[in-house]
Amino acid sequence: MMKSNVYAGNEDEIFLYVGEKYVIEQQEGVLATYTSENEEIAAMEEQVITGKSSGETYIVVNNNGVEKRLHIFVGDYKLCTGQEELMEFDLSSVMNAWNSSIRSSDTSVVSAVKQGHDKNEVSFLFNAVSTGMANITISSGSTVLESFAVVVQNHPLAYFERIEPTCSQKGSIAHYECLFCSKCFSDADGQECLDDISIDESEHEYAIVKMEAAACNKNGYAEYVCQNCQHEYTQLLKGGHEYETKVVKPDCVNQGYTEYTCKRCGDSFRNSYVDALGHNFKTVFYMNYNSVAKQSCAACGAVSYKMNIEGVMVNQSFYPRKWDADSSNHYVPLNEEWNVPIDLDAYGKKYITFTFPKSDVKKKRELYQGVWINTDYVYWYSY
Ligand SMILES: [Zn+2]
Ligand SMILES: [Zn+2]
Ligand SMILES: [Zn+2]
Ligand SMILES: [Zn+2]
Ligand SMILES: [Zn+2]
Repeated sequence: MMKSNVYAGNEDEIFLYVGEKYVIEQQEGVLATYTSENEEIAAMEEQVITGKSSGETYIVVNNNGVEKRLHIFVGDYKLCTGQEELMEFDLSSVMNAWNSSIRSSDTSVVSAVKQGHDKNEVSFLFNAVSTGMANITISSGSTVLESFAVVVQNHPLAYFERIEPTCSQKGSIAHYECLFCSKCFSDADGQECLDDISIDESEHEYAIVKMEAAACNKNGYAEYVCQNCQHEYTQLLKGGHEYETKVVKPDCVNQGYTEYTCKRCGDSFRNSYVDALGHNFKTVFYMNYNSVAKQSCAACGAVSYKMNIEGVMVNQSFYPRKWDADSSNHYVPLNEEWNVPIDLDAYGKKYITFTFPKSDVKKKRELYQGVWINTDYVYWYSY
């Protein structure tokens, strides 16, 4: 919002371009009369001055017999101090536009340099140095192609208060702005130029006005509306199962896998199976002259017995295994329900191997001892 006009410089000098109107502000209760000394240059009507043609003149202000003179400068063009302006001139009507040159009658007011040209057009860069008036002449050799007056004014600055941004509109910082060339400044003298006075829009303040939750079998959505500007958008809430994964590592006998369980509905499945690792058996000891070997898994503690299926050495005597119950010979037949592989060892002896999980070791060993070997033999208690 414009607060007040702050005109820099000497207010008794007024710079106008041809056709521009300037309203003299009059204090309330003051009844002054205004007279132009040259109506051809500056016409006066009521309190309105109109630039008519380039030149200088005075407006005489008569306030109850007290006279004051306003110095009026009228130019064909008007610039603000510090302003740079590139102007193009169509010189297609003359043969030698390329050969044109420019001259300012007062370079302390306006300087001008040729920037470039093509066949028909020439561009000149004008630089407004200080307030005043200068005549510009564009010539080619001794022929004058164009002649005009440029007036230079101080920026007529207006103060603008800070405007807070909203979510739909940028704001602006407090600043002074030239009512003629629109340049912005931080100071009332128009010295510190501001390139950007804008303040970015503030964030929208969204609230959810409608919502449908997502589920395992459908998408949901949420409708947001800004409480300030009504800007709205809809957010898709992606449905589908929300699986949590659990990786189960393989062990000696069980496969590993990844288990997926939906947080919402409990739906579950497994994939990425990994083979069981197999036992890592180490021989604990041999007994009975290698006719029995005990092995233990380094990883899980499972115990495996590897036995000569033909019989067993006890006290340096070989006792062949009998298939009938015969406690006097220390052997009873293997329960035919045992489904165990039969291997040949390096000497061609048949071996059977059977393995118990660690948790069953004690129980099975007793079973094993009770079933297979007469428990009188001290060897079986030695481990
Ligand atoms: Zn003057
Ligand atoms: Zn300006
Ligand atoms: Zn908004
Ligand atoms: Zn689910
Ligand atoms: Zn194992």
